[in-house]
Amino acid sequence: MASAFDYAPAPESRSIVDIAPSYGLFVDGEFTDAADGKVFKTVSPSSEEVLAEVARAGAEDVDRAVKAARKAFETWSALPGAERAKYLFRIARIIQERSRELAVLETLDNGKPIKETRDADLPLVAAHFFYYAGWADKLDHAGFGANPRPLGVAGQVIPWNFPLLMLAWKIAPALATGNTVVLKPAETTPLSALFFADICRQAGLPNGVVNILPGYGDTGSALVAHPDVDKVAFTGSTAVGKAIARQIAGTRKKVTLELGGKGANIVFDDAPIDQAVEGIVNGIFFNQGQVCCAGSRLLVQESIQDELLDSLKRRLSTLRLGDPLDKNTDIGAINSEEQLARITTLVEAGEAEGAERWSPACELPTSGYWFAPTLFTGVTQAHTIARDEIFGPVLSVLTFRTPDEAVAKANNSQYGLSAGIWTEKGSRILAVANKLRAGVVWANTFNKFDPTSPFGGYKESGFGREGGRHGLEAYLDV
Ligand code: NAD
Ligand code: MG
Repeated sequence: MASAFDYAPAPESRSIVDIAPSYGLFVDGEFTDAADGKVFKTVSPSSEEVLAEVARAGAEDVDRAVKAARKAFETWSALPGAERAKYLFRIARIIQERSRELAVLETLDNGKPIKETRDADLPLVAAHFFYYAGWADKLDHAGFGANPRPLGVAGQVIPWNFPLLMLAWKIAPALATGNTVVLKPAETTPLSALFFADICRQAGLPNGVVNILPGYGDTGSALVAHPDVDKVAFTGSTAVGKAIARQIAGTRKKVTLELGGKGANIVFDDAPIDQAVEGIVNGIFFNQGQVCCAGSRLLVQESIQDELLDSLKRRLSTLRLGDPLDKNTDIGAINSEEQLARITTLVEAGEAEGAERWSPACELPTSGYWFAPTLFTGVTQAHTIARDEIFGPVLSVLTFRTPDEAVAKANNSQYGLSAGIWTEKGSRILAVANKLRAGVVWANTFNKFDPTSPFGGYKESGFGREGGRHGLEAYLDV
């Protein structure tokens, strides 16, 4: 890559985080072994180094954690909202105080760049707790009638792409509304949830209000199936979301599902090209594209395709892939060997079906899981890479001629989570946004998150909303 100068290494120090060799489950305020003594290892995806050994919860542990949460529910739900708020504000402040430590930890366990954990994940995690802390004593005024009741025990299962942020999205509204929780982090990224358990203790949160059960899919399934769970909240793949929906059908359990996506990022011919290019890059290369609302389909107006692609390719050639702890790194590691294999298979399907593949010159490290930023042109709506969620740094480029065609193509998806519109015309933004079947529509920006704003999908992207006032409803008996 031609560059005027080389960057000196700028690694963030690991010494701020103290990772223990092993971790237990967090149940009723204590760290304990799994009943059957099972453990698993979590690795750093950028180096394949084993970071720690973690207890693996089984059905017996799920039962113990749900019982602890049920017992804690009696007192926690009876606390005045202002008292619950104090705990949430305390947790939010501790997260801020420990944010550098947590950012480094998250980067190590997940593989995403420190630039992102430091500037996106952690500030948003703290913001979520602050935001829902503010609601805890105002539930009477949230529009759900006087004295809305919590549901009870929430069983929550989260993915690996934003481990601590997805925990915050799940736990903050649950606690603010008076529920107690049992949360299962993803098997490849359990550590930040276990550090959060420690933060709960630091904040003096009553025992049993938050329980953390690391494990694999079987742990998640046992949690969802437990008869004393009142509410299930899941973020992850559409396949598992469907399995959960089947599992709880016919029970009294309430559920919210936040599943996959195939977001369309629509660029009209009057869009400011440089800004659109930045938005496209942010849309699909943020977090290596492992984002449910990623702008993985670029819909560009035919008349500006060449100009836009030239700029985009130039910009992609400047992205820096490598050590996620380096502050200059733009593209980190793929989260796991399995995810890398899934991305590779889908990209091979793209080539086999006749789309044209392009990547900038980019050297991949020899250990760890890596995938170069990739762009496909000549993509049609029938191609696998235009339909299936790749969940990796891979952009599929399609074209359109008229706004109606753009809307039709954007909506031609089993998913409906996110979309982006790039145009100078405000009236066009409103007209197009109204016709898009997507839970979030960004205009002249992409991947902007805010705790005050509801987030969620249509169609196979799931149902229910997280964030904002809407996010309270999912944890209230209304
Ligand atoms: P997954 O759905 O298998 O895993 C998500 C979480 O669900 C993990 O904690 C996992 O242990 C748990 N889980 C797995 N099976 C379960 C079951 N039967 N019952 C309850 N919990 C269960 O996702 P994955 O295999 O890690 O990734 C596969 C694909 O899913 C990705 O390629 C991507 O397309 C999609 N994905 C989407 C999101 C999102 O944010 N919407 C997040 C992760 C993955
Ligand atoms: Mg890991």
